[in-house]
Amino acid sequence: MPEPIYQTDRPVLVTGATGFVAGWLVKRLLEEGFTVHGAVRDPSNQAKTAHLTALADKLPGDLKLFAADLLDDGSYADAMAECAVVFHTASPFTSKFSDPQRDLVDPAVKGTRNVLETANRTPSVTRVVVTSSVAAIYGDTKDLAKVSGGVLSEENWNTTSSLTNSPYSFSKVEAEKTAWEIARAQDRWKLVTVNPSLVIGPTLSGKSTSESHNLIKQFGDGTLKIGAPPLEFGMVDVRDVAEAHMRAGFVPAAEGRHIASGETASFLQLGNMLRNHFGDTWPFPTRELPKWLMWLVGPMISKQLTREFVSNNMGLPWRADNSKSRRELGLEYHPVSVAAVEMFQQLIDTGRVKAK
Ligand code: NDP
Repeated sequence: MPEPIYQTDRPVLVTGATGFVAGWLVKRLLEEGFTVHGAVRDPSNQAKTAHLTALADKLPGDLKLFAADLLDDGSYADAMAECAVVFHTASPFTSKFSDPQRDLVDPAVKGTRNVLETANRTPSVTRVVVTSSVAAIYGDTKDLAKVSGGVLSEENWNTTSSLTNSPYSFSKVEAEKTAWEIARAQDRWKLVTVNPSLVIGPTLSGKSTSESHNLIKQFGDGTLKIGAPPLEFGMVDVRDVAEAHMRAGFVPAAEGRHIASGETASFLQLGNMLRNHFGDTWPFPTRELPKWLMWLVGPMISKQLTREFVSNNMGLPWRADNSKSRRELGLEYHPVSVAAVEMFQQLIDTGRVKAK
């Protein structure tokens, strides 16, 4: 089993340290005794950073916060100075955007270029771990019909997303391509990517703007009461994603891309996982809506539910091969039902969903 080797004598950088995924990664790094340089947009914003400083107070490692912005070239230089490993997690993950180029693609792609070109100018850096996504591997679920065995692997690239079709996925594939282009043009540091499916689980801050939480919130706010869209996707516990980053950063032989996905589930199955724990009083879906109905009414429900999206994604199987992450990173996956229940409980506890 490949084991990580933690060399804590040099600091490590986490970009976007305020994020959902990054919080759990910072925690794991502090547990192992690292000095973590956390790059955030505004270190004085305690509403976003207090959970990180509280962790550093009780764990063996140290935390230093630095101000940096993906769109401000060179702004990661101070945070990266002396670091051996860079974890680049920062990237917008939101469905609330008005201009996909400005709000999603530019921060993702220019931000990746900004961080990795800073790595080129920082002699201490030996490895960069980029948080990519399965969105860089496929665009629409119908793309799976064209891949070997109908199962996604690290060999596959998203060739179908664009500024108008799933622009978030487009931002992730363009950002990962940029990362590999920059990595291949030099030989001092190694690039390793983690490509998670939908990340679920509680946040360390108690708050989140990550799209993961907006999706789970729909199970409690009545959105899915009349039925679930017939949509399958991969899911993974946020703590497994943090561990995947630790291993991508510190397993000496780690190479290339790694799908990080625990299980496949549909909206209906995810609703059933929640019902098994929380009972019937919540508006969890009890049936799947037919694809034709989603095609008809989707655009009236949400601007993301275009007829093209329904046609290309609903009623189709979603499968991904996570064996590389298990074999080469030594990653073990936890059941996603536990993470889903903890995530929903946190939404209740923080008042984001209320019993009807
Ligand atoms: P969050 O929204 O919680 O985190 C995104 C982070 O990016 C935040 O720290 C945010 O900072 C930062 N960020 C956004 N724009 C900028 C900018 N212009 N300059 C500096 N920082 C910026 O999302 P997640 O934790 O879910 O996502 C983390 C990573 O994981 C992303 O790369 C995402 O694409 C990827 N991912 C997430 C999945 C999921 O299901 N959640 C699935 C697969 C991949 P601020 O707090 O200041 O807004």
